[in-house]
Amino acid sequence: MAGTGDRGTPEAYDATPYLPSRGGLPAHRKAAAECRGCPLHRDATGTVFGRGDPGARLMLVGEQPGDQEDREGVPFVGPAGRLLHRALAEAGIDEKDLYVTNAVKHFKFTRDETRKRRIHKAPSPRETLACRPWLMAELRLVSPELIVVLGATAGRALLGPSFRVGTDRGVPRPLPDAEDGTRVLATVHPSAVLRAQDRREMYAGLVADLRTAADAL
Ligand code: SF4
Repeated sequence: MAGTGDRGTPEAYDATPYLPSRGGLPAHRKAAAECRGCPLHRDATGTVFGRGDPGARLMLVGEQPGDQEDREGVPFVGPAGRLLHRALAEAGIDEKDLYVTNAVKHFKFTRDETRKRRIHKAPSPRETLACRPWLMAELRLVSPELIVVLGATAGRALLGPSFRVGTDRGVPRPLPDAEDGTRVLATVHPSAVLRAQDRREMYAGLVADLRTAADAL
């Protein structure tokens, strides 16, 4: 079996062997809790699978869980999540109609031993690719009309390595290889808004993109 269950063993990074052969979102969520498809499971608290309306017309895809999400096992409950909740409300999107998930299901971090904190570290392309089968399964099972990708990692997971938020955001486009007409719209990740010097402008751009998504449904 591919995976990294044994430390130090060079194996393929791939979640595929851990996916159930049948079942809906609950079966996939349960199976994802045992995923060893890449090394990120070793240091994180647990898998953070997607949440929300299993029949949602709109799906949001972020990068990976943060420190708080990792502890609680739920996506978008940390500071970036709170900013996203505010932006969604301003854009007129009701969160009970959404399905939210991340491109990578485990928290990747480095330790700041001085401050006893865990510092977010972006997942590598290899880790993102390894985790993609879970994201594709969620897409297949929820079958949204529109996917909003938040930031570069989610964008590259669904639109390929040449994706750039700066040039590709704000416009609905067909999801590559989708046979059911699913579209995808890119915008910034809310954590990028929190880090930005021009935070007000970045936030306004996020809300504008989310409004475009709402109007596209
Ligand atoms: S990050 Fe994804 S592929 Fe890697 S162990 Fe976690 S669920 Fe599996």
